[in-house]
Amino acid sequence: MHVLVTGGAGFIGSHLVAYHLEQGDRVSVVDNLSTGSLHNIEPFLANPAFQFYQADILVWDRLKEVVSQAERIYHMAAIVGVKKVLEDPRAVMATNIAAMERVFRAVAEVRPDAQVIIASSSEVYGFNTRSGFSESDEIVLRSGARLRWCYAVTKLADEFLAYSFMYKSGIRVVIARIFNTIGPRQSGKYGMVVPTFVHQAVNNLPLTIYGDGLQTRSFCDVRDTVVALAILASSPAANGEIVNVGNDQEISILDLAMLVSTRAGSSSPLEFLSYKEAYGMEIDEITHRRPILDKLHELTGFEAKWLLPETLDNLIALERGLERA
Ligand code: UDP
Repeated sequence: MHVLVTGGAGFIGSHLVAYHLEQGDRVSVVDNLSTGSLHNIEPFLANPAFQFYQADILVWDRLKEVVSQAERIYHMAAIVGVKKVLEDPRAVMATNIAAMERVFRAVAEVRPDAQVIIASSSEVYGFNTRSGFSESDEIVLRSGARLRWCYAVTKLADEFLAYSFMYKSGIRVVIARIFNTIGPRQSGKYGMVVPTFVHQAVNNLPLTIYGDGLQTRSFCDVRDTVVALAILASSPAANGEIVNVGNDQEISILDLAMLVSTRAGSSSPLEFLSYKEAYGMEIDEITHRRPILDKLHELTGFEAKWLLPETLDNLIALERGLERA
């Protein structure tokens, strides 16, 4: 099979590439390296089954040609990370919506039989105060004054773009609402908590906890995430469906800090920062985020294999240079 991964030099994208190359597929990647990095795909560059195009989907003149070769397309290209979103909300709006539209137009024109999987996000559940989020839940967003939500709005727009192209052009699309994902090659640069804590703990730096640390998240190892995405892509029943993808082991950020510290044998102190200190502005925190995974299980039978302590041990060893990503 020939697979195209947009954003394939990014964190989840590069793991999708590794997964499909291991399956014996041919894989093409288009990435402008704005948040992705060449380092993430370096191990694949010499592989004849792998093709990398450094290009911006918004203007790239070879998009149709490359789309026309692909039987399966993962559209992962997006600007992500709360810090990054707050830094440049204009780029988020343009990249996350317009790029998706351009990919869909190309699919409709030159490869309408391709199987498309798009990366939506748990962020679309917004200010939902339920203890677990299910695909049919109402969406609760705040008004434009809080820029954090612009990312959720782009991902919702992407979901509706997908439905528009499904109805008008008959394209097959699965919409994956991806929850907090962790693993090798994730950068802490854009604010993600696990790579940040791992770096801090290994280097005996203060562990920076935002707010009171009682907010919770559920972390899924990326090596599980990509398997779930690939099974969804090959499940005809998933077409036209919105599906949560993640792991439902929930942990508070304070407990996470202590777990990382213990596993790393670290002497790092805990440092509590207000959201204003952390992000340079007030943000609406999402106090609890846990996926309800019944639909994913029903459609795919998928069960996550990685437990949080195992992933943390792996990341700590990588941070120390004891293992290779
Ligand atoms: N967080 C933290 N310290 C950090 C980075 C993040 O306490 O150094 C918190 C953040 O406020 C949020 C949680 O960890 O409550 C997860 O943050 P992340 O940016 O990884 O993901 P998201 O907010 O999108 O779930």
